Amino acid sequence: MSHEAAMIVGGGQTGAYAAMSLREAGFGGRIVVIGEEAHAPYDRPPLSKAMLTQEPMPAPAPFHAPAKLDERGIELRLATRVVEIDRSAARLRLADGATVPYDRLLLATGGTARHLAVPGGERALTVRTLEDAMAIRARLGQGVRVVCVGAGVIGLEVAASARARGAEVTVLEAGAACMGRSLTPAFAQWLGALHEGAGVRLRFGVTVREITGEGVVCADGVVPADVVIVGIGITRNTELAVAAGLAVEGGIVVDEFCRTEDPAIFAAGDVAAFWHPFYGSRLRLEAWRHAMNHGIAAGRAMAGRREAYADLPWFWTDQHGVNLQVAGLPERAASSVLRGAMGGASFAVFHLDAEGCVVGATGVNAAREIRAAQALIGLRRPADAAALADPSRNLQGVVAAMRLG
Ligand code: NAP
Repeated sequence: MSHEAAMIVGGGQTGAYAAMSLREAGFGGRIVVIGEEAHAPYDRPPLSKAMLTQEPMPAPAPFHAPAKLDERGIELRLATRVVEIDRSAARLRLADGATVPYDRLLLATGGTARHLAVPGGERALTVRTLEDAMAIRARLGQGVRVVCVGAGVIGLEVAASARARGAEVTVLEAGAACMGRSLTPAFAQWLGALHEGAGVRLRFGVTVREITGEGVVCADGVVPADVVIVGIGITRNTELAVAAGLAVEGGIVVDEFCRTEDPAIFAAGDVAAFWHPFYGSRLRLEAWRHAMNHGIAAGRAMAGRREAYADLPWFWTDQHGVNLQVAGLPERAASSVLRGAMGGASFAVFHLDAEGCVVGATGVNAAREIRAAQALIGLRRPADAAALADPSRNLQGVVAAMRLG
């Protein structure tokens, strides 16, 4: 047993996976996960879906059972806030004044849901924690007037969940489209139609001026609401890093090994702006698989391994019983290839760059196509567009042929 101590600040998915992978990579010292929430790290996707709709409410799903954490000697220090990193003394200061020394430190502090900076903005609910989901769940029901501000993943998943509970739902979006940052215009339009078909009212180009007891005040009048839920993105929790003098450019700057410029300090997950060797640029990703895999990579890096993290972007969302997945970076595409019929029960679009290489894919109920797309993106070779478009062609075969060619 080494006498070294690894402190992991952040009790979310990234912190949980980092702790486990650090141990599994052979680190023999003390491992402590310090989390601000009172709960052991739990899975967040159900917060905007099953936890709002299912009866009875599903229990939160912890990533690791207490027995496994015990067995691996991973300590959880919950309901605890770190207020300072003293780099010269290599120790953390906690909100209660206590100090904790570290030899290796991971910042996996994630993000905080943004609030609307308008009068009455504090009346709106946000979705980030178990308590947030429970507060929303308690307010939903038949005929309840729900307004979601933001047509991103949170706003739209909550809108679908609220409709499933019989609520009257309106979504107000500042931009021009549903999930405009991650979907192409065609998919954004398709998604809008899905919501409207399920009875959700969508309004775009809306500026919210105020939230009152009556509802949401916009430039052209008041949208009546019993509950207002805001999903307008997150603010990365970089304060500790900034105060400690670490480089922060939108997120905590790390290389492909999750290392900051301080050899003892690492960062991963939503909070990190990490060097991506495949893209040759720095990325910031906010998605479930990245949170997990970047945590695993950070744990290994903290154990001294040199394995570059190069996971490709991927996320999914479930809305109105439909599964939508996006892989890669569709915004870098010059053209696209449709497989299946847009609007059918299952279809996918492969996004190609100017050289004809697959750079992204978007699929509806098309998990297999998205998996193949991820392999194609990694190959970085011009793809056979006709084969991609032909549903009778087996995609695994297309991938295999490209690997050989
Ligand atoms: P998001 O996906 O960034 O979407 C926020 C949306 O709100 C954007 O469309 C944005 O428009 C819009 N918006 C911003 N300011 C607004 C305003 N003042 N009034 C109206 N609309 C406004 O963020 P999110 O939906 O809040 O999600 C938060 C985090 O949870 C993200 O990290 C997300 O990845 C994560 N999450 C992921 C999933 C999933 O992967 N399935 C599910 C839930 C949550 P502009 O783009 O024009 O600014």
